[in-house]
Amino acid sequence: MGLGNVEIMSTTAAEIICQSKLSLALTGAGISVESGIPDFRSRGGLWERFDPMEYGTISAFQANPEKVWTMFQEMEKIIRRARPNPAHKALGRLQHMGLLHTIITQNIDNLHQEEGATSVIEYHGNSKTLSCISCDRQYRLEKLGEEIPPRCTCGQILKPDVVLFGEAIPPRALRESHELASSCEALLVIGTSAQVAPANTIPLIAKKAGASIIEINVEPTLLTSSVTDIFFQGRAGELVTKLADEVEGIMNQN
Ligand code: NAD
Repeated sequence: MGLGNVEIMSTTAAEIICQSKLSLALTGAGISVESGIPDFRSRGGLWERFDPMEYGTISAFQANPEKVWTMFQEMEKIIRRARPNPAHKALGRLQHMGLLHTIITQNIDNLHQEEGATSVIEYHGNSKTLSCISCDRQYRLEKLGEEIPPRCTCGQILKPDVVLFGEAIPPRALRESHELASSCEALLVIGTSAQVAPANTIPLIAKKAGASIIEINVEPTLLTSSVTDIFFQGRAGELVTKLADEVEGIMNQN
């Protein structure tokens, strides 16, 4: 099903979620744009000043951690101000209704968890903890002092526990999300351009397993004409809320 009657599509998508034995959501930077955190592709945003390919790689951090920390510092300021938006709330509602098994997020902003999501896999880590790449000691962000960049007791500059380009996905997150994707019946794909691997294989794994793929994005992506069954074009805040309302309506009728 491509672009078409939004009302019918929305009811169909809601019915799929209600009937599915295992539903998942895969979220990307787009779901947090309405919380004030720019995605990689927004104009005039953070990523125009900090090219992810120059600042967002593990080799850049190893070569010049102070330089990469100028990006981390700005990101942290933005994330600290951000609050969950209606899309995070709507996914949290679906989880509390027992109709969304797990949210697999590529985001590092903690906003799903802040909205009371019950099961979240952080595919690219989280910015709330930091580790020493030399001795592996881990620290909580709020326990660190004012020093920037913060240092380990061994003297090394710490790295936030976010997956940089060139780093492996945390093994447990990788294993669990790929196992769930291969047994899910419905996958909501929200606000991701599906250009970052291996996160972008999750919709393909789910599709191969026979799942219905429901995508929400302000613009078509690489997935839209290949694996997506139902595409909703628009902002996540409005569209995920609408979908959760429809689901709630169906559940209340039964
Ligand atoms: P991306 O920047 O590549 O793509 C974002 C997608 O969201 C785009 O397709 C865009 O059209 C869509 N979008 C933008 N605003 C939207 C809205 N209001 N509603 C619905 N869709 C919207 O992001 P990605 O695919 O997640 O991959 C980039 C990587 O960057 C990820 O690994 C992620 O970890 C990281 N990242 C995370 C954050 C965060 O934690 N909030 C922010 C920026 C980047």
